[in-house]
Amino acid sequence: MQQSPFPAFSVSPSSARRLTTCARAHYWAVYGSWGGWDDALPPSGPRRSAYILKTGQSLPGLVGTLVHAFARTAFDAKRADIPFNAEAAANAVRVAFMQAIENTQLRKYVVDPKTYPVVLELFYDDDVAVASRVQRCAADLDDALEALQLNGHFLAVMEGRAVVARCEEREQVRLRWPDAIEGGPDDFAVWVVPDLVYRLVDDPTGWVIVDWKTGNVDAASVDQLGMYATWLGTVAGAESRHVAAVAVYLRHYVEKVGQGTPEARAEAVGNMQAAAVKARALVEDDDVETNQPKPMEAFEQLPEGSKACRYCAFRRLCGRG
Ligand code: SF4
Repeated sequence: MQQSPFPAFSVSPSSARRLTTCARAHYWAVYGSWGGWDDALPPSGPRRSAYILKTGQSLPGLVGTLVHAFARTAFDAKRADIPFNAEAAANAVRVAFMQAIENTQLRKYVVDPKTYPVVLELFYDDDVAVASRVQRCAADLDDALEALQLNGHFLAVMEGRAVVARCEEREQVRLRWPDAIEGGPDDFAVWVVPDLVYRLVDDPTGWVIVDWKTGNVDAASVDQLGMYATWLGTVAGAESRHVAAVAVYLRHYVEKVGQGTPEARAEAVGNMQAAAVKARALVEDDDVETNQPKPMEAFEQLPEGSKACRYCAFRRLCGRG
């Protein structure tokens, strides 16, 4: 199958966040890395490099990915009605954590970045305290796994009081443009990947959306959870009064609720529409059908010395790392 020259136009809560931070990062993540999975490309070339860096993970990001993998293994076992061995699953993710570090040191990501994602701190080799950060993140992983297994939502599923409706499946919501495009499509796609959606056995009309967080408590989940609730409303016809959206901050034993309300949904939809308009302005002639980007220079970089650049996966491509 021939690959299309540009990716299909879409937004997501994470691309909306990226667009708010830095347009150039949006370029690398969406356009500059497109097709970079072709291992015939030279690893030092910009397209392959951008793809390698896009699939890369920071150490805290890796912790999050592995905690989600553990939860998915548990819920998949429950859905398939087979026993779940928590100890074996926890050991598997601990091994995966150490292997990601070893693979980065061995540069395995150059061969297969999807299977062996680069650990960004080691790739950039710019953190003198990287060994202690590895240790700290390994401890964070253990803490988060323990907190997950004590969490009420996790237990509701594993003890059979709740039925999993979705677990990290990629879902699409279609939103209308806030301003009409002459001759263009009426709507655009927003992609969402809810961590967990379930219904209680003794209250099948009620839906609960859960977003596992392994970082610090912040205000960043409004768009994510608001869009998950919007998606649930469109596909399942779930009325907002029956939807609870919860961000669970595992390491802090904190839960934030209330982001499935009509107000939260409206805010999230408005933010996605604003992000889509911003992304459309970076496409040649506003043409979201072909989604051909403007030249890279149109995607503005942050000023030299910006704090966000220090943590950006693409800093080598920008000559800043
Ligand atoms: S290094 Fe800085 S300017 Fe370059 S993409 Fe990242 S955040 Fe943007």
